[in-house]
Amino acid sequence: MGRLDGKVALISGGARGIGGAMATRMLQEGAKVVVGDVLDDDGAALAAQLGDGARYVHLDVTKPADWEQAVGEAVDAFGGLSILVNNAGIVNFGRIDDYPHEQWARIIEVNLTGVFNGIKAAVPALARSSPAAIINVSSIAGLRGYEQLAGYTASKFGVRGLTKSAALDLGGLGIRVNSVHPGVIQTPMTEGMTFDTGHVPLHRVGQPTEVADLAVYLAADESSFVTGAEFVIDGGETAGSVAANPADAPEN
Ligand code: NAP
Repeated sequence: MGRLDGKVALISGGARGIGGAMATRMLQEGAKVVVGDVLDDDGAALAAQLGDGARYVHLDVTKPADWEQAVGEAVDAFGGLSILVNNAGIVNFGRIDDYPHEQWARIIEVNLTGVFNGIKAAVPALARSSPAAIINVSSIAGLRGYEQLAGYTASKFGVRGLTKSAALDLGGLGIRVNSVHPGVIQTPMTEGMTFDTGHVPLHRVGQPTEVADLAVYLAADESSFVTGAEFVIDGGETAGSVAANPADAPEN
């Protein structure tokens, strides 16, 4: 028995990274999975590797028509849609006083309006397949500020707020809506970046599968009383700071 038997999931940005791990884990738990992404080669390869229970669709989250097609694929191929994961996201950097309007507009369009588009397109199908779940991937940058990340931080705070409001509107339809807030996770997005994890309580970055395990819980009926909530998965980074060298800890 899988924890997601009988469920059908649509995962945006699902070709690789956190979304790819979610597709893999959800399938292992018995769900059928539609992977949507703009990386067509990676997405098609992942779906082929996952087998009959998976499909790939081209899905640019900024395009409402792509969302309609992706939801339609889930319904046509697997008979409904019960899990929506709004995972697609981009990152860009720059000091606020030197941050171009174009970068601001683009990151809000993908990271925030993309989530709105997904919810709008999926709600009718989700309601028909309820109990259903929406999982919105925010970030710890949706909980606190980071320098040179104004657009990303604003978009991820927006996802957190949108999640709360959607949870209120959709609870009566049998749709739960929660946000996930990862710390630094080892994916193509963070490749080549350096992170000092010395002061993070668990002293390491996270793995995509660890976020995927949390998503399985939020997608499954075992979280049936959980909605409008935020789930931090960051090795303790936002709880506080520890000594980088245990020998420097206060009790020593
Ligand atoms: P990733 O490896 O870059 O995967 C994200 C996927 O989304 C990529 O395939 C990307 O394609 C795709 N994408 C970008 N724009 C899209 C669009 N308009 N429509 C559909 N797909 C699009 O990143 P990840 O690290 O797995 O991140 C997944 C989510 O977790 C993001 O929302 C990210 O902000 C969030 N997150 C990540 C971390 C971390 O440390 N990795 C921490 C906190 C939160 P392209 O290559 O074309 O961009």
